[in-house]
Amino acid sequence: MKINILHMYPDLLNLYGDRGNIACMEQRLRWRGIDVETHCCTCREDNIDIENTDIIFIGGGSDREQKIVCGRLLEKKDMLSEYVENDGVLVAVCGGYQLLGKYYKLEDETVKGLEILDIYTEQGSPRLIGNVVLSSDFAERKIVGFENHGGRTFIGNHTPLGKVVVGHGNDGVSGAEGVVYKNVTATYLHGPLLPKNPQLCDRILTQALKRRYPDFKELAPLDDSLENRGNEYIVNRFCK
Ligand code: GLN
Repeated sequence: MKINILHMYPDLLNLYGDRGNIACMEQRLRWRGIDVETHCCTCREDNIDIENTDIIFIGGGSDREQKIVCGRLLEKKDMLSEYVENDGVLVAVCGGYQLLGKYYKLEDETVKGLEILDIYTEQGSPRLIGNVVLSSDFAERKIVGFENHGGRTFIGNHTPLGKVVVGHGNDGVSGAEGVVYKNVTATYLHGPLLPKNPQLCDRILTQALKRRYPDFKELAPLDDSLENRGNEYIVNRFCK
């Protein structure tokens, strides 16, 4: 078995160790004896072999970088929408999350989004910064991470990734964080997200494996004691 990961625009969108999410997915596949290859699509070279793509990752970036990348992403709008509607696995963090929506409204301009999710984002003040702990239907353990965003994201009827226990979340008031839609996991959590939340990582890997190999049942368990200790440390530190 083999999984192909596509990292979109790491030359512009790669804040707070977002690349660590790719390293985590790669390693957790290799530990199970599953081959994995990561391809990058950058501003210089952005041909995409979507048929052979199993997981797309889009990281976060500053407003400036997002504006640059949005034009490039919009050229691929139909291809990416079709991929998602066909149960393609997509993980988007912060700026990448915002770009999946209808628009990101800044003080002086509006950045058009991919309209894959029925959400929109508006810049606000102050920035929402700090550690985050979520309770989530998508992981038995708490999901932990770090957020730093000016944008407030309004998710309408979408299902959030989790409920904020500590932190600000999508808009600072609703108590919702992120969006889960089909095989899309979108979130403000950097840090990176997946090494500290191995259950979430395995959920994403399982989605990709089941889509590529319809007979695939489940991932072999791993010894996650170290990862779980990291996760628990954050929970204990901020939930007391
Ligand atoms: N530029 C966006 C914001 O500030 C996203 C930042 C990020 O990816 N950390 O809302």
